[in-house]
Amino acid sequence: MLRVAVVGSGPSGVYTAQNLVQLDSDVRVDVIDRLPCPYGLVRYGVAPDHEKIKSLQNNLRTVLEHERVRFLGAVRVGPGGLPAARLRELYHAVVYCVGAATDRHLGIPGEDLPGSWSATQFVSWYSAHPDAADDGFLQDVRSAVVIGVGNVAVDVTRMLARGPAELSPTDMPQAALRALAASRVGDIHMVGRRGPSQARFTTKELRELGGLPGAGLLVDPAELALDPGCADLASLPPARRRNVEVLRGWAQVPPEDAPRRIRLRFFLRPVELLADGGRVGAVRFERTEPDGRGGVRGTGQFEDVEAQLVLRSVGYRGLPLEGLPFDASSGTVPHRAGRVVRAGTVAPGEYVAGWIKRGPTGVIGTNRPCAKETVLSLLDDASALVRERAPQDPVAALRAAGAEPVEWPGWQAIERAEAALGASLGRGVVKLADWGSLLAAARSAGAPQAP
Ligand code: NAP
Repeated sequence: MLRVAVVGSGPSGVYTAQNLVQLDSDVRVDVIDRLPCPYGLVRYGVAPDHEKIKSLQNNLRTVLEHERVRFLGAVRVGPGGLPAARLRELYHAVVYCVGAATDRHLGIPGEDLPGSWSATQFVSWYSAHPDAADDGFLQDVRSAVVIGVGNVAVDVTRMLARGPAELSPTDMPQAALRALAASRVGDIHMVGRRGPSQARFTTKELRELGGLPGAGLLVDPAELALDPGCADLASLPPARRRNVEVLRGWAQVPPEDAPRRIRLRFFLRPVELLADGGRVGAVRFERTEPDGRGGVRGTGQFEDVEAQLVLRSVGYRGLPLEGLPFDASSGTVPHRAGRVVRAGTVAPGEYVAGWIKRGPTGVIGTNRPCAKETVLSLLDDASALVRERAPQDPVAALRAAGAEPVEWPGWQAIERAEAALGASLGRGVVKLADWGSLLAAARSAGAPQAP
């Protein structure tokens, strides 16, 4: 019987497990996660007000409840936890689905001033990630700048613009709800360094910014006019054309008087964060213009935009994994159809899927074909892998290494605790936001089951 460890329980990990059990009627899969909770970015990245996308958890749940799949949470693989080499001994094959764990930097002066954060830090906070710190993101903030025009930028802009009535029904932790509800942010500038026709957001996400109660939208027609793509819509791929059409519509509407204003800006590249009283006070941008090759060049004209909060939303980045090769330029693990490649040769029994395989692009569904490709490679190798080694009882080995895995009943106990917390606050489900509460809830389910 083939025994496979999948490291990471986000969409790529769960789709890998699903493909394995669908395509091999004997395989047993352990889905291992550093956190006591499954679902990765679906739980800790999808915005709380995106209930429909979040409901994908129900599909992922049926995979993790499959009789040949087991969830092992609160197990760290690598430094400080189970060494990767030991994990490799316990299974016939290991598939790393660990995503892109960090965020990219701008590399400009002032980037580390208090009040300047990555969008990921902000998202982790309102998503109740147990490693997130409550950093007083919104304290004394009147104006916020979001750098980047991808879907994460749209998410954080929307969360900053939403009012308490819309946030309260979500599962966001109480402290984040309280802080966002009390926020005095009046202006939210979302800024792209290139033109509107080159923005990375998808039209569905962009449109949502137009329908937020209490939030007006401002698009400067002069910035649209700078973009040759806007003048020649027929030359654009359909997705980009739709974005420009939406932006053009907004640019024609006179700004309404609203308590909050979302300002969509283009052709401005950040060059410096300026301090004011020991924290960020403004972002200095240089006006750019198209260079005729899809990029932009600086014009030597500068504009300072007031901001007591700066969120850089310029993409994620993969981190090297202990014992695995790593391509630092792309932030991914070198692979051939999902098989890890070491020094030009395929490493038997080691695989990757998801963002650590292909980089931080695409939507959740993109992980399905990506996981399938990896699983087909693995199953091609399966007979050799099964001949090569006899797997050991992973849970006993994990306990011997000091880990106390949170299994499915432990996760279900966390879900019950979150429902009870929400009920006590007069809300729906409210997420537990710290390690202590999560582990206490998980342990209340009783001793982990024997393997
Ligand atoms: P992204 O789509 O790669 O967007 C990154 C943005 O940052 C781009 O506008 C990019 O501009 C800009 N940027 C990069 N370096 C910069 C710099 N030095 N200065 C100024 N701007 C810079 O990344 P993301 O928004 O983090 O999203 C990651 C993935 O998750 C995407 O595939 C996204 O679709 C997905 N996602 C989907 C949803 C959803 O479906 N609802 C929600 C969240 C995330 P250039 O284009 O000029 O490089």
